[in-house]
Order: sequence, then structure tokens, then C-alpha cells
Amino acid sequence: MTEQSGVAVLGATGSIGSSALDVLRLHRDRYKVVGLTGWKRMAALKPLMREFVPAQIAAEPESVSVIDTNFLEGCEGGCYLGGEEGLVAVATHPDVDTVIAGVSGAAGLQSTLAAVEAGKRVLIANKEPLVMCGQLVRNAASVSGACLMPIDSEHNAIFQCLPLNLQQDVTSGRGIGSRSAGAGVSRITLTASGGPFLRTSAAAISDATPAQALAHPTWNMGPKISVDSATLMNKGLELIEACSLFGLDESQIDIIIHPQSVLHSMVGFNDGSLIGQMGNPDMRIPISYGLSYPERTTSGIERLNLAEIGVLEFEQPDLERFPSLVLAREAAKTGRSVPIALNAANEIAVEAFLDRRISFCEIPQVVDWILQKHEPSEVSDLEHVVDTDLEVRAMASEMIQRGLSS
Ligand code: NDP
Ligand code: MG
Repeated sequence: MTEQSGVAVLGATGSIGSSALDVLRLHRDRYKVVGLTGWKRMAALKPLMREFVPAQIAAEPESVSVIDTNFLEGCEGGCYLGGEEGLVAVATHPDVDTVIAGVSGAAGLQSTLAAVEAGKRVLIANKEPLVMCGQLVRNAASVSGACLMPIDSEHNAIFQCLPLNLQQDVTSGRGIGSRSAGAGVSRITLTASGGPFLRTSAAAISDATPAQALAHPTWNMGPKISVDSATLMNKGLELIEACSLFGLDESQIDIIIHPQSVLHSMVGFNDGSLIGQMGNPDMRIPISYGLSYPERTTSGIERLNLAEIGVLEFEQPDLERFPSLVLAREAAKTGRSVPIALNAANEIAVEAFLDRRISFCEIPQVVDWILQKHEPSEVSDLEHVVDTDLEVRAMASEMIQRGLSS
């Protein structure tokens, strides 16, 4: 019997976490769940603790304090109860070989970076840390020997389409920038479903409710990324994620709307070939690929039935109705600390929209306002990233509280 590989699932109570655990359940002979983290939803975390009996768990300190001692005693080797430190401990535990980074937003920054610094294989769904400081994450991988594995579906698709030597440049943190021309890679194209408002008029979009924004037509995801998909900021963040992870310039990356969400992205080669990866829109496919790479195992997902789908459509995104795409591309172009500001302002604005404190069309307005105020600076170290993030969050919150028009 082959030895089981240790896995930590960060964000186990969320959408990525639940897809990851489904794949891990299929391959109990290959993987042992060593660590799990949640945050507020203890009702979702408790049954997972009982099922997987991980050595460590972490969650929000106040939530952990309500777990009764019977559950804690079920965890061998002690538990890390305290918030972000707890997440870092789970991500760096010596028995963990692979970390699935599935926390939502900038809250996953420290634990993702810690996993990379500890030399783990890190399956990165949590795109925000890459948006904020992808270069720091890649540098850390070069030093520690970590293996970076993109599992955001588009970036995983691109990874799958790259020749082996460029795949190694991605996993090692070198990025493909310097060798892409030699390998004939000219451009990459990210596909976007277009979200729930693809065919909605600008007037109707401006009054969209949280329930409408959360109703994604093809993917089933957590609330923050669902709203980002409705504004198309998700694709903007993915553009920056692709620049960061692959070491490419934003001018080498195209975005195209593909409502069926079965072609997950493409690599363009200089002989005119375009190689893409297809599959049903289900995160268990990239997660399974990331876990078993370079082998492939079953993911529990049926093969795509193209005859049933019939038609695949493609169109240019409408930059007038979806200004977030323009803001994100500007941030990618300027670089430095601007993506941190874009991300922080967007997280605050999405939260305010979900709490009904601002309207849907005010989300990009908050981001735009912040980008106009923000003084770009060099991203030197983690402290600078965290400080910039906190500073922008405070500015955006204050602006929302004052009212956008004042
Ligand atoms: P969810 O909202 O479903 O889950 C988020 C997870 O993070 C939950 O386990 C949540 O815990 C935990 N969490 C929330 N806040 C904190 C915090 N402050 N500290 C630590 N943990 C926290 O999100 P998704 O699974 O949809 O997305 C996760 C990440 O993956 C995002 O970055 C997203 O962009 C990316 N992604 C998601 C895809 C998807 O299909 N869902 C596809 C591609 C990328 P709790 O619920 O217990 O509070
Ligand atoms: Mg994606």
C-alpha cells in the first residue's frame, strides 16, 4: 500500500472546501486529511471534524470557543484555536504535504504565503493573495521549493495547456515570462461566463439586488466571488492573478465571454494554434488535477457531453456595462501596490452591497474612487502589503459610510 499524503484544507466550510473534500473522499487510500479550517460556520465544521478526525483545526477564536470538549478531544495532537495564527499552523504542519488554499479574500493571504514558505504543494483557489502580491508568493516558492498549482479553473486550464517545461516554471514560481516566447506561447485567453447580468440592461443592472447578483448561471460558489462574477471584477482579478502567477504582461492576456462555461481558457501559440481545456463547470476537476498532478485520477465528474450542449458562443465583454474590467486592467497595467488597493476596495464594496448599504452599480464606483486617491508604492514585503490593504479598507469604509455622493 502506498503511503498516504497529508492534506490541509483551508476554508473547508466553503464552496472550494466542500469540492476538495468530495475529491478527497473518493481517494481515501491516497490522502489523509491532517488539517481543516473554517471561520464562522461551526455547524458546517463540526461534522467534518467528526468525519475526518484531523490532527488540527482552526477557526475564528469566538467560534472555536463554542466547540464542546468532546470534539476537541477527538483531534489527536492538539488544536490551534486562534484565528489567523491557527490557519498558519494548520498550513505549515509537518505532516501536511499539500495545502488547498480555499479561504475567501485577503483573509487567506498569511496562511497561503506560510504554506508556500514551508515548501508545501499549494493548490491555490484563493486568488486574492496572488492579486495582492503574486511576486512575493513566487519568490517564496523559489526559495522554499514549494510547488505552486493553480486551481482557479481558468488558470488551471492554462496550466494544463502549457508544455511541460513551462508547467515547471509555474510550479517552481519562476513564471513562464522569460521562456514563453521560446516555447512559442504568444498570448493567453481567459474565458468568462458573463455572470447573471450578461443580457441585462445597464439600467436594470444598477438596481440589482444581492439575490439577483448571487444567482450565477453556471457555477455554484461562495457569496464574494459570486458578486465579483456579476460585476465581472472576478475576471479582472483573474487577469491580475494570471499576470502574477505566470509572470506575463497584461497586454498578453485577452478576456472573452463564453456563456456555456465549458471551455475554461486557452493558450495561443505563435504558429496560430489555440489550445484550450474543456470540461463540465465543476471545481472538482481542477482540484483533482492539482492533487494528482502529474498523474490524473477520477474527480467524480461526468465527461462533458458536447452534443447535449450543441452550441458554444463567444463574444467580447461589454466594458460600458461592466466597468470593473477596465479598472482591473488599469490596475494590472500600473502594477505596484495598485492591485492591493483594487482588491481591498472591492472586498469592502462587495460586503457593503451584500449588507444593502450600497447599490450594485456603486461597487465599481467605490473601487474607482479608491484608485484615483491611491498613491502607488513598491510592494516590498508582507508588512507593506498588509498595511496597504488595511489603509485602503479604512478609506473605502469611511467613504461608504459618508455616502458616495458627498
Ligand atoms: P466561500 O465563501 O464559500 O468559503 C470561504 C471559506 O473561507 C469558508 O470556509 C469560510 O469560513 C472561510 N473564511 C471566511 N472568512 C475567513 C477569515 N477571515 N479567515 C479565515 N477563513 C475565513 O468561498 P469560495 O469557496 O467560493 O471561494 C474561496 C476562494 O476560492 C476565493 O478566493 C474564490 O475567489 C476562489 N475560487 C472559488 C471558486 C468557487 O467555485 N467557489 C472558483 C475559483 C476560485 P466560514 O464559512 O466557516 O465562515
Ligand atoms: Mg475562475
